[in-house]
Amino acid sequence: MISRRNVLRQLANVPLVGGFFGGLLADGDLEAGAPSLGTADDEYRDYFSELGLRTFINAHGTITALSGSRMPPEVREAWDYATRHYVDLDAIQDKAGERIAEMIGCEYATVTAGAFSAMTLGLAGVMSGMDEEKVSQLPDTSGLKDEVIVLKPPHPVGYVHALKNTGATLVEVETRQELEKAINEKTAMLFVLNAYNGTPIEKEELVALGKKHEIPTFNDCAADVPPVDHLWKYTDMGFDLVAFSGGKGLRGPQSAGLLLGREDLIRAARLHAPPRGNTIGRGMKVNKEEVLAMMVAVERYLELDHEKQWGRWESQIQFIKEVVQSVSGVETEHYVPEIANHVPSLRITWDQEQVNITPAEADHRLRSGHPSIETGGGSDGLNVATWMMRPEEVRIVAHRIRDVLEEAAT
Ligand SMILES: *Cc1c(COP(=O)(O)O)cnc(C)c1O
Repeated sequence: MISRRNVLRQLANVPLVGGFFGGLLADGDLEAGAPSLGTADDEYRDYFSELGLRTFINAHGTITALSGSRMPPEVREAWDYATRHYVDLDAIQDKAGERIAEMIGCEYATVTAGAFSAMTLGLAGVMSGMDEEKVSQLPDTSGLKDEVIVLKPPHPVGYVHALKNTGATLVEVETRQELEKAINEKTAMLFVLNAYNGTPIEKEELVALGKKHEIPTFNDCAADVPPVDHLWKYTDMGFDLVAFSGGKGLRGPQSAGLLLGREDLIRAARLHAPPRGNTIGRGMKVNKEEVLAMMVAVERYLELDHEKQWGRWESQIQFIKEVVQSVSGVETEHYVPEIANHVPSLRITWDQEQVNITPAEADHRLRSGHPSIETGGGSDGLNVATWMMRPEEVRIVAHRIRDVLEEAAT
C-alpha cells in the first residue's frame, strides 16, 4: 500500500533528470534537475538535490539572494550544540550579548534577526526607552519622538524600510545646514548608511551633532567587514548604535545580526524583541541557535589571521586572472570595492569583436553549466571574488570562465 512515507522515499530515489520538478521551480533555478554527483561526504543526504535545487559555486560574494555565506565548522558546531539543550532565551541573550561586547570592545551588544532587525529594534528602543506602555503602542507613535533624520545617499536604499516599520517618519537631508534645520523636538535619531562615503557630512561630524543635540546616532554597517576593525571603529567613534549582518563577512547564521552600542538603548531595544509578544519585534525571533552561533562566529572572526586570509584571496584572484587572460581579447582588472564585499576582486572584460559573447550570455552559461557558477555578471563584464569559495573551487571557476570565453573566440 502506498503511504505518504513511501511516496517521499520514492521521490528521494528518483534520479532528478531535467524538468522532472520543472513546475515546482522558480525561474532562477536553471538546470535544477541535473543529476546529483553526490556530496563531498556521501553518508549525508543530498537534500538540495532531492528537492531539485541547484547548488552553485559562489564566485560573487555575500549576497542575500544567494543565501549569504556558509557557516564554518565552529559555528555549525555551536548551532548543533544549541539544538540539543533548553536555555532561558533572555538569559542567553544577556550572556552572549555581554560576551560579544567584551570581545569587540563596545559597551553592549545583542543578537538580532539580521542587520535589518537591528535597525528596527534599535530605533524602537530609542523611541520607547524602558517604558513598557510605549513599547506596546508602536507602530502608533502618538506622543513619541518619531522622526529619523537620514543622510540621503545617492541611490535610494531599501533597507531604511526597517526604520519606517517602527511607525517613524524619515527626513532626508544632504548638508549640515539642512540637518541642523531638520532637527526639532520630534527628532528621535540620526541615521547613516556606512557604505555611503560621499556625504558632505563626515561620520565624525554626525556623531558630534548627535551629541550636541542629545540625539542618538545609528550607523548601518551591515556588509562592512572586512576590514575587521570596522567591528569597533564606529562605536569607538561615538555612534550610539551600530548594526552588522551576521551572515555576511562574519559567516554566522544568515538569520542573525548584531546590534552594538549603548547599553541603555540596547536594553530598551530588547524590550521589543522575543520572548515578549505584544511588540513590533515579535516576528524577529532569534533562538538559542542563532545567538550562540553568532557569538562563536564573532569569536572565530576575531581570531582569524586576516592578513594571511587577504594574501590567499589575492593569490586566488591572481590565479584566475592569469588563466582567463590566456584568451586573446580578454582584459582583467584586479580591484577591491571600497566598502561592502571589501575583498580582492577581479573584473573581466573582453573585446566582443574577438570574443563574441555578451557578458549576460557568459554569466548565463556559467550559471547553467556544471558545476553551476554564480558571478557578479554585469553589463560590462564578469566580476569575481573568491572569498565565499572553497579553495578547490577557485581552479574550477578559472577554467570554466576561460572555456566559456574561449568557445566564443572568433
Ligand atoms: C544586507 C544589508 C542589510 C540587511 O541585513 P540583514 O542582515 O540581511 O538583515 C542592511 N543594510 C545594508 C547596507 C546591507 O547590505
